[in-house]
Amino acid sequence: MPEPTPEPNPLGAGVLLFSAGLDSFPAWHFLGRPPVVYFDLRHRYAPQERVAVEKLAARCGMDLTISRELDLSDREAPDAIIPMRNAYFAMLAADRADLIWCIGVKGDHTADKSPEAFGVIGNMITALTGRDVRIHSPFWELTKTEIVRWYLEQGLPTDDLLLTFSCSRSDGRPVHCGVCPSCLRRWCSLVNNGIDAPFEEPPWQWERVRTFYVPAMWNGTYPDHRAAELFTALARVGVTV
Ligand SMILES: [Zn+2]
Repeated sequence: MPEPTPEPNPLGAGVLLFSAGLDSFPAWHFLGRPPVVYFDLRHRYAPQERVAVEKLAARCGMDLTISRELDLSDREAPDAIIPMRNAYFAMLAADRADLIWCIGVKGDHTADKSPEAFGVIGNMITALTGRDVRIHSPFWELTKTEIVRWYLEQGLPTDDLLLTFSCSRSDGRPVHCGVCPSCLRRWCSLVNNGIDAPFEEPPWQWERVRTFYVPAMWNGTYPDHRAAELFTALARVGVTV
């Protein structure tokens, strides 16, 4: 794996958009522990996310701001997507710093989360504020599995990593459900690094893995690296595809 290199950071530490997820927590270490901001949008998994944010911040000594400036709960789609979420985040984060770290990983390419989208958002805010505001991710070249590997290679605590929350369940329970897309990605990246993380239901037995994900990985709906990581994870628990 190529050694990841943080982008040049002439404007200081900037601010990291932190969600206590499996990407943004390693990113906080990777970026040299910058100030973080969490946006509570009143989305359906915000209560568990917020508990994880506060727990990790207290445990690790993070400079944390929790923002409740925005309520986008009525925009949340059934699949938990909130359109243009990262553009809203960037506009509010620009009140706090000129450099905004928003974590996207290799293969992310949604309307508001890609290197191109971040360029557009940064250009818009720069044009409207007259300041040079930029939004970047340090992890565009790394998969979630590689991010977790980087974290572990630094000798950072597995216990902290397991306090992260990446599940889109809506019943407020703090346990990872094991049967949502976020849990499946979490499980893959952890099991591929030898970590046996707790889930309410075994993600590899989720019916949608067999009926949707495996066929979609074979037919090219997802990038090759996503397919390889899912198949490696399944093989680790004895599931062959
Ligand atoms: Zn879940």
